Amino acid sequence: MDQNKEEAIIRLEGLGKQFATSNGTVTALDDINLEIRRGEIFGIIGLSGAGKSTLVRCINYLEEPTSGRVIFEGKNLSAMKEKEKRLARQSMGMIFQQFNLLAQRNVLQNVCFPMEIAHMDSRKAKERAKELLKLVGLEERMNAYPAQLSGGQKQRVAIAGVMAMEPKCIIMDEPTAMLDPNGRKEVLEAVRELNRKEKVTVILITHYMEEVIHADRVYVMDSGNVVMQGNPKEIFSQVDTLKAYGLDVPQVTLLAYELKKSGVDVPDGILTTEELVNALCQ
Ligand code: ADP
Repeated sequence: MDQNKEEAIIRLEGLGKQFATSNGTVTALDDINLEIRRGEIFGIIGLSGAGKSTLVRCINYLEEPTSGRVIFEGKNLSAMKEKEKRLARQSMGMIFQQFNLLAQRNVLQNVCFPMEIAHMDSRKAKERAKELLKLVGLEERMNAYPAQLSGGQKQRVAIAGVMAMEPKCIIMDEPTAMLDPNGRKEVLEAVRELNRKEKVTVILITHYMEEVIHADRVYVMDSGNVVMQGNPKEIFSQVDTLKAYGLDVPQVTLLAYELKKSGVDVPDGILTTEELVNALCQ
């Protein structure tokens, strides 16, 4: 891992969130402590209701935590004045399931839109937009309108639009939930490319386990708690624990696990078909 990936961009200290409902209090987050390092891809997985969305909504104060602190670049968000908080929030680009594109604008105009609002020089904005569209693999679709794009393409345009404002991190809440397998792959590849080339920190929430195999670190949430943490290999080595939390393991990992159980000599935490083939050939 790069040296600069060791520095924390976001630190959560004792973060808690409770909701008062007509059926009593719901604890969505229970004393979460974690650090997200600058430049990393940080995956958060867990079943529906585990607290993932609440966690990211608390990170950027869309939701006020009930307890604990969010430290962004060394500063406590809750102690910030409104203006400072707004700036911090702008440094955290949010990407959701739905794509939020303007139907009457073409791809290039959509990516330029946030820069227009920020009164950026239009020539510079276009240059930046084109550069980002190239990174997400859509330079050839610059003049297309959202209705002419697949789901995966629309989400990549949305991501390029968020990246236009040069956020320090992007927080993606189930960005592929509405996509087919192809679209999911395209979006994840684009995100990895942006992470590599633009060095943006990525927080990726998903319930598709195979989407975090390229993350630097993975945290597993269950009932408002972090229950597992490690790199993908460490996490996916623990098939029984993952199953106990009701999580699906990538098929190839499961196959390797079953082979091992039946006496074949394969290592734990196989994440890709190539790894399994290599292990078996040896
Ligand atoms: P996930 O994103 O992992 O599916 P959420 O963060 O959406 O989980 O939800 C965690 C828990 O908090 C769930 O029990 C959910 O019902 C509850 N919750 C989330 N938002 C609210 C809210 N606004 N009011 C009441 N309960 C909520």
